[in-house]
Amino acid sequence: MLSDNFAVTKETSVEVLPPARAAAQIHAGHALADATRGAAESAGASLNAVSRPLSLADEAHRQLLLQLDMALWKPGAKLPPEKALADSLGVSRPVLREALARLKADGRIESRQGAGAFVAERNKIAAFRLHTAPRSGATTHRDAHPVPAAEDADTAERELLELRQIVEAGAAELAAQRRTDADLMAIRNALGDMSAALSVRADGADADDRFHNAIAAATHNPQITRFVEFLGAQFSASRKVTWDHTGYAVGIAEVGHADHIAILEAIESSDAAAARVRAHAHVQRALDRVLARFATRAATSPSGV
Ligand SMILES: [Zn+2]
Repeated sequence: MLSDNFAVTKETSVEVLPPARAAAQIHAGHALADATRGAAESAGASLNAVSRPLSLADEAHRQLLLQLDMALWKPGAKLPPEKALADSLGVSRPVLREALARLKADGRIESRQGAGAFVAERNKIAAFRLHTAPRSGATTHRDAHPVPAAEDADTAERELLELRQIVEAGAAELAAQRRTDADLMAIRNALGDMSAALSVRADGADADDRFHNAIAAATHNPQITRFVEFLGAQFSASRKVTWDHTGYAVGIAEVGHADHIAILEAIESSDAAAARVRAHAHVQRALDRVLARFATRAATSPSGV
């Protein structure tokens, strides 16, 4: 299995752990809490040089993320009770709850009615994780010119989209060169499901994910497949926009579908260059929407920045 060998340890370094090292981390047992704390502290120290000090909730969130990354708890496993978790992190229960709420927003844990918090199943493909970079430059002047949360969110989305664009365009290019009949069938199936969703204005987000994952699988490079799946998981929230009321109202779903058909045609006809260009253009639409939000904000900001 190739699972879980990726780790993004800092915003600047992507590490591919050899299986032995990944396993060692997973089985570190009691040393893990200390190691996690040490890693969190060193990450915190380097962040503090360019960013605001971390709040207690930031710190608790970061430590829990590291523990999830290191597979301290298995996907689907129940997290320890609140009190035990709070004690182990040395924080109060309100601080712990804030950290847990953020983990839920990250999609890393889920709560089940009356049963507590569980590690999200998706965790199994999210063993590596993209850290949202602190807003360097802006952060050193944060007190004087606070960066609005919406702008931070848009910056994070733009960064992920740029990454997704590079990866998916490359994947489509390779898929056009390497696809088998079975690959084409899987891609067509996902497209068919999206057509069905479109015809009744339903949510086709899952089929959209499957479409892009099937193209990645057609590269016959399992690292690319896993990375595209990972990016898809990171994007599942923002992809919903395509398929909700707003997406339909402004025609995003229809335009996206036309893109999907064009990408499939290029892959079917083994036209690698066209597949790359079309996959690139598909993500560019989402990128343009984010860039438009920046432009609107700049135009309406009183300082003009
Ligand atoms: Zn798509």
